[in-house]
Amino acid sequence: MKTQINEEKIAKLANLAVKRGVGLQKGQSLLITAPIESLTLVRKIAEYAYKEGAHIVTPLFTDSDITLSRFKFAPDESFDNATDWLYNGMGEAFDNNTARMAIAGDDPMLLSKMEPEKVSRANKSMAKAYKPARERITEFKINWNIISWPGKAWAQRVFPEVSVDEAVFKLSEAIFDASRVSVDDPIQAWDVHNEKLRKKTSWLNEKNFKALQYNGPNTNLRVGLADEHEWMGGASKAQNNIICNPNIPSEEVFTTPHAYKVEGKVSSTKPLSYQGTLIDNINVTFKEGKIIEAHASKGEEVLQKVLKSDEGASRIGEVALVPNSSPISQSGIIFYNTLFDENAASHIALGQCYTKCFKGEMDLTKEEISNRGGNSSMIHIDWMIGSDQIDVDGIDQNENVIPVFRNGEWVN
Ligand code: ZN
Ligand code: ZN
Repeated sequence: MKTQINEEKIAKLANLAVKRGVGLQKGQSLLITAPIESLTLVRKIAEYAYKEGAHIVTPLFTDSDITLSRFKFAPDESFDNATDWLYNGMGEAFDNNTARMAIAGDDPMLLSKMEPEKVSRANKSMAKAYKPARERITEFKINWNIISWPGKAWAQRVFPEVSVDEAVFKLSEAIFDASRVSVDDPIQAWDVHNEKLRKKTSWLNEKNFKALQYNGPNTNLRVGLADEHEWMGGASKAQNNIICNPNIPSEEVFTTPHAYKVEGKVSSTKPLSYQGTLIDNINVTFKEGKIIEAHASKGEEVLQKVLKSDEGASRIGEVALVPNSSPISQSGIIFYNTLFDENAASHIALGQCYTKCFKGEMDLTKEEISNRGGNSSMIHIDWMIGSDQIDVDGIDQNENVIPVFRNGEWVN
């Protein structure tokens, strides 16, 4: 069994991330956050970035063992603090047009055995300190991109039945395939893919549907769309006018649903992995946008808790269309990582909406977003409702019904 990660594909992923992922411009600096396990990939990224004329490339590495040491041995006060100076610095870098790249690959369950009370305090402090960096990313002030590396612990979760080396190799191939770098010319493959997604978003924006109707097994759901909503997907332009692909892979086109106009029943079509718990066979009923009844064959207790996180947690903030023929869906792999799993099927997300999915001005106030039907919450959890048995119709402003998906695939 081959277990060596393919070096040529690592190079292709690095090149793609620089040129199409972040879309780095000559003279622009680049900040990379990454697990130390991904050093080989980050070195390649730096090489391609400098070849593209990067000003300064700054890598910031994390290490799982060091993170765990904190939770095991640090004094109690540690957990009410975070490195404010670092995130203030990131905010300053972004204000100076530094591009941002993140490598995902850590164990999705890293902190599951640590004291929950310490973890939640640390998360809270981190969320607060991270604000200057997060705001600039969510407001899309600069070009950014996230790609993945097959970390050992993550690989073992996805492929528990094989040796560590084999699991890492298998996950690396799955990441390369899903990221479209297992082909001769990934850059060209992404240009073609982006063009396809752009055609879908243009069509949906032109139709300006007021609702989507989903029909399938245990599913009869009408999702009203937010006023002035805009469909997005694939390559998009940041506020600094640089075009980037924030997520690699990405198969979805998505927009903001109306928080108060969702009616009917829907079932999940794939298990949802949420903070170490698997929630399976979700069945919910919506009334006036709110989930009034929820069941799951597995993890129902956790689901009920999630729905009570805050007022917006039982309403949806995202609706996304992904064809069943997407490479990630066809791989049949559950990645336990939203970056991949949400690209395997059409989905909705409980909680916070994407504030950029609106026509016109990018910086709407919270009130304007809520007036248009955009939901707000501290959670955003995607779950899959698409399969080869689901049909989707668009309902236009005159109540005309226009087929969008048949048997899980785009009609046109
Ligand atoms: Zn999504
Ligand atoms: Zn989402």
